[in-house]
Amino acid sequence: MGRLVMKFGGTSVADIERIRNVARHVKREVDAGHEVAVVVSAMAGATNRLVEWCREASVLHDAREYDTVVASGEQVTSGLLAIALQAIGVNARSWQGWQLPIKTSDAHASARILDINGEELIKRFKERKEVAVVAGFQGIYPETARVTTLGRGGSDTSAVAVAAAIRADRCDIYTDVDGVYTTDPRVVPRARRLDKIAFEEMLEMASLGAKVMQVRSIELAMVHQVRVFVRSSFDKPEDIDPHVSPPGSLICDEAEIMEQQVVTGIAFSKDEAQISIRRVQDKPGVAAAIFGPLAEANINVDMIVQVVSADGATTDMTFTVPAAEYERARSTIDQARDKIGYDKLDSATDVAKISVIGIGMRSHAGVAARAFRALADRGINIRAITTSEIKFSLLIDAAYTELAVRTLHSLYGLDKQG
Ligand code: ASP
Ligand code: MG
Repeated sequence: MGRLVMKFGGTSVADIERIRNVARHVKREVDAGHEVAVVVSAMAGATNRLVEWCREASVLHDAREYDTVVASGEQVTSGLLAIALQAIGVNARSWQGWQLPIKTSDAHASARILDINGEELIKRFKERKEVAVVAGFQGIYPETARVTTLGRGGSDTSAVAVAAAIRADRCDIYTDVDGVYTTDPRVVPRARRLDKIAFEEMLEMASLGAKVMQVRSIELAMVHQVRVFVRSSFDKPEDIDPHVSPPGSLICDEAEIMEQQVVTGIAFSKDEAQISIRRVQDKPGVAAAIFGPLAEANINVDMIVQVVSADGATTDMTFTVPAAEYERARSTIDQARDKIGYDKLDSATDVAKISVIGIGMRSHAGVAARAFRALADRGINIRAITTSEIKFSLLIDAAYTELAVRTLHSLYGLDKQG
């Protein structure tokens, strides 16, 4: 017997029929003897509609009232699932964020979870065999007693936080993909589902655009060592044999992964823009003069490459920003031109970032060098490179994204066999 959190996203609870299907998934685990807390999202499309209503009511709206509105989607599904569970003979009750309570910061619309007390849920598992159905995405800021939400995709984070609070053996994320892949299967048909992936690797994959789970939920799982299992919600509950381990990907501590590959996955993003500042003064304070104003403007700078000056007087500084921030970044630099002191700005918006990820890189040399060779053989030029302990990233022309990803995927032995 174990203790489980089961999280279902919007598509899994999109209508009453699917909510009944979810109820049967839950019953299966209860019948197998597990103590279960379920975390649900709003019905697919519901949150978008609520957000839109806020905008329609007033473009500039109070974030506290926005939270009151958008948190309602999860209230509906938590109640409906509790009803559906009771209807098939499973003892269940719903919990809103304020009832548990899930205490958060006061950053309305992007609040952080500070504390959840799981003892009441555990007590009810023991005394009443009661399933807890927790509304995802929402919490409460205790000082003002106002409802908060965790940012879009936040019910993943709710699920991991509840799992930590009740000391669950596992947090199952039921979603519309059956796991985490070595790369996007739409780009590389031979992409493989990973049986296991380490927290650090998943954090990189998620930050770099593999949109399986909210990034914050992985951070939380890593800090609290919550084992997370990503699996498909489309499998019929009746077809699942509770004694056979189902297909999916386990996100866990690296110590739990026996055969560690050097490279685990390849992430990529085409939403990048490159800005190069030519002939900047090579003197103390220049980097601060460039990146200070960008930070103040809340622009997320990613890769930064500074060339070692040849003449000791000037140098070139290249960096990337999200494509959506490109115009703002350019004008921010323009405005600081006198302070920075440079010749001209060059930029490119048709660039892509390819990242190769694997904790095995810590102990293997020459991993990146192989990529440089392989891309050169295909005539792909590398514009910028950054490395960290468990990944390296390359900036290339966007037109070569697919070719580069496929090349590296084969190079590191990630292709599915057969
Ligand atoms: N319903 C919220 C959203 O659509 C939270 C979630 O589904 O994770 O963003
Ligand atoms: Mg989601």
